[in-house]
Amino acid sequence: MHIEEAVKLDFKDVLIRPKRSTLNSRSEVDIRREFVFRHTQKKYHGIPIIAANMDAVGTMEMAQALLLHGLSTALHKHYSIDQLAQFFTGLRAAGSPMSSAFYSMGIGETDFDKFIAVNANTPIDHVCIDVANGYTERFINYVKKVRAAKPDLVIMAGNVVTGDITEELILAGADIVKVGIGPGSVCTTRKLTGIGYPQLSAVIECADAAHGLGGQICADGGCAVPGDLAKAFGGGADFIMLGGMLAGHDECAGELVERDGAMFQRFYGMSSRTAMEKYSGGVATYRASEGKEVLVPYRGPVADTLLDILGGVRSACTYVGAHKLKELTKRTTFIRVTQQLNEVFG
Ligand code: 5GP
Repeated sequence: MHIEEAVKLDFKDVLIRPKRSTLNSRSEVDIRREFVFRHTQKKYHGIPIIAANMDAVGTMEMAQALLLHGLSTALHKHYSIDQLAQFFTGLRAAGSPMSSAFYSMGIGETDFDKFIAVNANTPIDHVCIDVANGYTERFINYVKKVRAAKPDLVIMAGNVVTGDITEELILAGADIVKVGIGPGSVCTTRKLTGIGYPQLSAVIECADAAHGLGGQICADGGCAVPGDLAKAFGGGADFIMLGGMLAGHDECAGELVERDGAMFQRFYGMSSRTAMEKYSGGVATYRASEGKEVLVPYRGPVADTLLDILGGVRSACTYVGAHKLKELTKRTTFIRVTQQLNEVFG
């Protein structure tokens, strides 16, 4: 039995040390990034934050709202072929960046057939192939199959949390590896299985592995406040995926509920009992639900929340003297802490 003694860190375990800066205002910070993807040589230019492909958050309405700000959305898997074909055709016709929406797929035969059908009329540029456990041979072979069938497709694949498998996925055909097992706001994987990896260390280690091969990573899950995005970018994340932080808005598909005069929206994990009952006719006897359902306070249009999130990231760049988001990693020194917030007023 092997015990790894090195300390692994989560967002809550660190702060970023401020550094001398020549920036006068956070308005001078450019938080767009440019990448050339490894397999496709396609160029990306935008704010590298992606709404998660959860059915409350990864909606077409969210994609329309986020694209106005240069962000992206991974559409959830439960739209019909017609809805998706129409959406992607509209995106292309409007001249919007095709990176503003990722088509999401699992690794079943029907997933691939559906993708081919949607793709028939409108070429899709970006896909997110994701499974809860990206460590299986079947998953890696699936990524190889999609890469072989579609050499021009930007492929984001995951989820994993270690450098070895990040490299393997990139060599199998992924341009972006999605990183995170267990950190999500409505995830119960760690509780149920004991499996996981502290998210900041996962990001640092997977980014290092990916960058060595000219690939990118997307930090997926566990960001609860804008400062967590600054830490993920500071740790080397190229992209960040957000679920809970974007839940509760007008653009979400969550059902609105009233409790004692206040409005809330339903939000649940995609492996929760709620999701499985909705899409798979219940929780199969051989598996357990690895997600939960929560009520999040209703927060109006997502644009206001975006200003907070992007303002936080810009401000972090100002504190360490990063004129561009790209420089944030180089200028980040993490300080390990035992406490970060003053909770005296709750
Ligand atoms: P959040 O930003 O809410 O902390 O994390 C979002 C991420 O949680 C999603 O992108 C996805 O990777 C993960 N996730 C969503 N639903 C579930 C679930 O039911 N179980 C688990 N284990 N992870 C989930």
